[in-house]
Amino acid sequence: MKKPLLDVQNVNASFSIQGRRLHAVRSVSFQLFEGEAIGIVGESGCGKSALVQSLLRLVPASIESGTVLFDGVDLLSLSMAELRKIRGRGIGMVFQDPMTALNPTMQIGQQIQEPLRIHRVADKREAKTRALELLRLTKVPDPEIRLTQFPHQLSGGMRQRVSIAIALAAHPRILIADEPTTALDPTVQAQIIHLLKELRHELKMSQIIITHDIGAVASLCDRVLVMYAGKIVEEGPVDGILNEPRHPYTKMLLLSRPSLRSKRGEKLFAIEGSPPSLFSPPAGCPFAARCPHAMKICESAFPPVNQNAACWLYDEKDSDVHAAFTH
Ligand code: SF4
Repeated sequence: MKKPLLDVQNVNASFSIQGRRLHAVRSVSFQLFEGEAIGIVGESGCGKSALVQSLLRLVPASIESGTVLFDGVDLLSLSMAELRKIRGRGIGMVFQDPMTALNPTMQIGQQIQEPLRIHRVADKREAKTRALELLRLTKVPDPEIRLTQFPHQLSGGMRQRVSIAIALAAHPRILIADEPTTALDPTVQAQIIHLLKELRHELKMSQIIITHDIGAVASLCDRVLVMYAGKIVEEGPVDGILNEPRHPYTKMLLLSRPSLRSKRGEKLFAIEGSPPSLFSPPAGCPFAARCPHAMKICESAFPPVNQNAACWLYDEKDSDVHAAFTH
């Protein structure tokens, strides 16, 4: 059987905020295979970024339980120095908002050369050539000129390309991109999606795309994980999730995306209410307060996963419940 490149099992992570625990990631498990791209979708604050940043210990989260194996190595048992070698070399990360992710006081060329030197991928002279190659690879126009420029001299799209170039510098096997198209014009968004797709195939890498843009997931990913209130509530192949979603949250998320077919003046669908507080997450289904199909059991017990969705509607043991919903 094929072994996953990244194997995350039952991870619980929390943050301490003013003496209280915020349970941002709750019993999350997923796998990523060599060459595969998965999308993690959900509303803001559902735990998407907290999940990947906790796995790489980029944020001061406490990992309370779980295992995270990257190519068989348990990332949670590594020292910070050992983990730093994996970050960049094994797993590259493109952070949200390239303007703040890039150092405003450093030239673009220096910022790309830095990871090359840290990971000893190239010496000083080779690093300059490699930086230029990376700008070409990520299709930054006039790459020779950009090497000596600063982030504020570049457009939003170019800054995102530079962030991708930095993440690719040390040849990672997995590229994680956190909201790679947010705050970009629609045409630039399409170009960045195209670039990520090309890079995945050209460099034979795996990708994790974190986004609230389901359109980006459709173009880039093989599989989708839908997160809500720190949990994965549905998972499946991209076509299945987009064309035949199971979980009521996924269905409503898909209904709330803008469509070119929407009529002028037509009000966009919005999911009423807000996610529960993760300082004291509910014992039952976290979507119960917003779900049009909520039943009594939904409030008291977290649903089992059936047909890839954590929802009591698909509980195979309780066929009466299922029948009541489907008929
Ligand atoms: Fe709705 Fe209940 Fe399913 Fe939660 S478990 S999504 S509340 S039907």
